[in-house]
Amino acid sequence: MTALDHLPYGVFSTSDRRPRAGVLVDDRVLDLADAAESGLLDSDPSLYAQPALNAFMAAGRTVWRATRDALRDLLQDEVEALVPLAEARLHLPFEVADYVDFYSSRAHAENLGRLFRPDSQPLTPNWLHLPIGYHGRSGTVVVSGTPVRRPSGQVKPPDADAPAFRPSARLDIELELGLVIGTPSDLGEPVSADQALEHVFGVLLVNDWSARDLQAWEYVPLGPFLGKSFATSIAAWVTPVDAIPRVAAAPQEPEPLPHLRAAGRAVFDIDLEVDLNGETISRSSARNLYWTAEQQIAHLTSNGAALRTGDLLASGTISGDDPGSRGSLIELTWNGAEPLELADGSERTFLEDGDEVVLRARTAGFALGEVRGRIEPTA
Ligand code: CA
Repeated sequence: MTALDHLPYGVFSTSDRRPRAGVLVDDRVLDLADAAESGLLDSDPSLYAQPALNAFMAAGRTVWRATRDALRDLLQDEVEALVPLAEARLHLPFEVADYVDFYSSRAHAENLGRLFRPDSQPLTPNWLHLPIGYHGRSGTVVVSGTPVRRPSGQVKPPDADAPAFRPSARLDIELELGLVIGTPSDLGEPVSADQALEHVFGVLLVNDWSARDLQAWEYVPLGPFLGKSFATSIAAWVTPVDAIPRVAAAPQEPEPLPHLRAAGRAVFDIDLEVDLNGETISRSSARNLYWTAEQQIAHLTSNGAALRTGDLLASGTISGDDPGSRGSLIELTWNGAEPLELADGSERTFLEDGDEVVLRARTAGFALGEVRGRIEPTA
């Protein structure tokens, strides 16, 4: 394995360069605009001389593949003028169009069902028939490293008579993988599961920060709103779909309706990890996703809704069956009943001010871009 197997894309700036597209090569960044300008890449420099990857993303799979092939050829040899990563400031890699968050890990859905609806079936009746999702707030998607301020909001504990407005006391993480849509689809024309991946530019880690106390009071009947929209962190680097191995997904029972079936249904083979203050508290895998990327896209567009360049489709929290593979604190601590004991002797149920969470992902011998965020006190 070499860095040439990964080659993720991002947006960077330096003291003398405005934000523009770059590709990561080990711990250095190649300026794609410069490379195209000097003829090293056979594509239009204007695709890269921008503070977001969207123009390149919209160019489509033929261009993505040609660029990736050209980069792999070019980088076989020592290339001058790579920028050390330490000298680069990393920016949000693309302008986020719509942000959709799915709920596609069965273990996560079952855990939350057991926690919140102990007297009924863990899965809601629709869960095995469609990939449940909601529309989130794209304007507050932030790049890895951005501090996360503890939100305030309305909360009403079960034993309280009335709600109060106060800082969240149950601030949580959600370990997720996001799809980044490159080429749009046409309004009114569903994208079939078999065609869906043609639209996907790449994949990155997502931390869907969640204020559980705000969420619990507000979510009936329209779903998550302010309990999620204060911040969603994504990696600075987008890994091309072509770089990620996929493995066959387990058969689905019941078999989904025809529009959600895909030939050779497969999941991304990516190992995932959650670190809290430098200590690993969960190890999961994207193989734990029941609904695949193709099925999520087929479902999202099945009513004729169009994909847009820059859409971010997050998987939902990725938990496995093993308790050590749960992707959120509400699951890891079983709604606070079983606090985590950290190496420094402290305990955690939910996040405290100053806590730093890092999501990590590995596949095929390389690490995807991490997602890092530290909790700041309420303003
Ligand atoms: Ca989520």
